[in-house]
Amino acid sequence: MKQKVLRRKTKQVKVGTVPIGGNEPVVVQSMTCTKTEDISSTVEQIKRLEKASCEIIRVAVPTQKAADFLGEIKSQISIPIIADIHFDYRLAIQAIQNGADKIRINPGNIGSKDRVRKVLETAQKYHIPIRIGVNAGSLEKQLIEKHNGITPKGLVESALKHLAICKEVQFEDVVLSIKASQIPLMIEANRMLAKETDCPIHLGVTEAGTQKIGTLRSALGIGTLLAEGIGDTIRVSLTGDPVEEVKAGFEILKSLNLRKHGLTLISCPTCGRTQSNLISIAEKVEKALADIQIPITVAVMGCAVNGPGEAKEADIGVACGKENALLFKKGEVVRKIQENEIVDTLVHEVKNWSES
Ligand code: SF4
Repeated sequence: MKQKVLRRKTKQVKVGTVPIGGNEPVVVQSMTCTKTEDISSTVEQIKRLEKASCEIIRVAVPTQKAADFLGEIKSQISIPIIADIHFDYRLAIQAIQNGADKIRINPGNIGSKDRVRKVLETAQKYHIPIRIGVNAGSLEKQLIEKHNGITPKGLVESALKHLAICKEVQFEDVVLSIKASQIPLMIEANRMLAKETDCPIHLGVTEAGTQKIGTLRSALGIGTLLAEGIGDTIRVSLTGDPVEEVKAGFEILKSLNLRKHGLTLISCPTCGRTQSNLISIAEKVEKALADIQIPITVAVMGCAVNGPGEAKEADIGVACGKENALLFKKGEVVRKIQENEIVDTLVHEVKNWSES
């Protein structure tokens, strides 16, 4: 039986058709890296993200033009769209009026309480949620001074200060986030935040880095919190193609048994007992099944030590020997196959599984 993570209880908000929090699965989101004003490139990137199963997309809205184009972009895509706003509260209001399904504001630069209230009133009128997204890199100066630097307490205080403004105007549809590139800081701040509120929490390690290292850092920061039950939506931030962010997001969630999605490949690291070309086989299987949409676990194992056990636990698996392998399906040995048949056989079995 799969070990389940006990998730923190939260309120629920809805971003377009996608619920965040409550008992809903953790949602995977990403952010475009195109100029939002370039409608065709932005739509093209969002469509690629949709294909990769991205569930919500955020776009930067740094200009009037970007705010104006939101409606047009929204009309060409299928997933809810979030407008990311810094500095100018008027852009937040315009983005809401132009159809944004959610707004992200940064308390560190959005300005006075009055301006925040104006954004909240518009969001209330259009029934959309807001994320108060605190970022260690833009924490308010007075909080840095008060706490002698950028600390978990200061970051939480920033989020709660803005949450209090929401409460004053009875605005309930709030998601909170505290991001930092320093992972211990991000983890501790979110642990503290989770104790203070029942708002859904968006998790992310900001400026995480390029694909390999950024995925690793995100898995540490986001994964640690998710394993403690904290977090209702995640964004892996990578310097690179955002499609990789979505893939990494699902891998993190699958690793914690929080979501089922596409291929989960179990493969052994190989060792002195391996008698097959296992690394190449595992890589070929992973590549061939990268776009499989149904959740399926495939094991590619090197020998009789852990091989049969893991292959039995998987939906489909092989335990390799010398020049041949045992094929397992739903825990049962199906037949012996030759090493050169492994990749094609697994792909064939998985495709049949999808159709069965
Ligand atoms: Fe080595 Fe076998 Fe374990 Fe693979 S499954 S690492 S071949 S002992």
